[in-house]
Amino acid sequence: MNDHILIATAYHGEARIYVSYTKDLVEQARSIHQTWPTATAALGRLLTAAAMMSFFNKDDSQLTLRIDGDGPLESVVSEANYLGEVRGLVKNSEVYLKDNKTNKLAVGKAIGNGFLTVIRNPGLKTAFTSSIELISGEVAEDLTYYFTTSEQTPSSVGLGVLIAPNNTVDEAGGFIIQLLPNASENTIIAIENALKEISAVTSYFKAGLTTLDLLAQLASNTQKILFKHDLIYRCGCDKQYYKKTLAKLDAETLNTLIKEDQGAEVVCHYCKTKYYFTATELQTILDHKKTTSR
Ligand code: ZN
Repeated sequence: MNDHILIATAYHGEARIYVSYTKDLVEQARSIHQTWPTATAALGRLLTAAAMMSFFNKDDSQLTLRIDGDGPLESVVSEANYLGEVRGLVKNSEVYLKDNKTNKLAVGKAIGNGFLTVIRNPGLKTAFTSSIELISGEVAEDLTYYFTTSEQTPSSVGLGVLIAPNNTVDEAGGFIIQLLPNASENTIIAIENALKEISAVTSYFKAGLTTLDLLAQLASNTQKILFKHDLIYRCGCDKQYYKKTLAKLDAETLNTLIKEDQGAEVVCHYCKTKYYFTATELQTILDHKKTTSR
């Protein structure tokens, strides 16, 4: 099963359901950032959530989810767009915390107390930022609270990343159910009952079931699929982007890079691609900066 998202209406138009499978993109994030299991789980949950949330509103071109906490991970960031492209990073990738009692990965502990921030259309005129205090740091619970309080859309969120014994990603995926304003009491009860049947998203996939099966379960077989879209880990950076970033440096710093370092190597935080700029290229950036600042 390739990474993808299914978007459906259900319960006779009283709910909307997003279901996603994200194993490959979470594994790619793990491989790029060389994350340890708890860091992989935290990053994977946030990537999966961002991937689904980027399809909420057709007018949004991009979405950023950011968690800042006082736990060892410090911060986790994920970005997604309506093309189904996601990327992310974690401040400290070498975190492997487990709950002593349950033996499960302790994502909440690794994140700690802090804030969840949602930014829609970052960098654009239509940018919108909203922030809440974390409830548990387990991500799905925090997002459920965020949707209900900040977006006034009662929702249920499930996110899961299962780590294989060799520390790669075994399964990953999630769902978001949104109650629409016309939702009846019967629908709310039916959704609550459907949710009780699902212990963990990843165990669902691990049992060989698909996103279609999960959707049918969540929708009590009332689903009408609106569309399906592929999801992929893609950074989208290029040398031109980092040329612009270098142009923001002051002339003194650029001069030092030219004269003392004879060039500069820039590493993208999201995909670890290295871009090399020769002294001549840096000089061109500096000259252009001088002409445009006059
Ligand atoms: Zn990149």
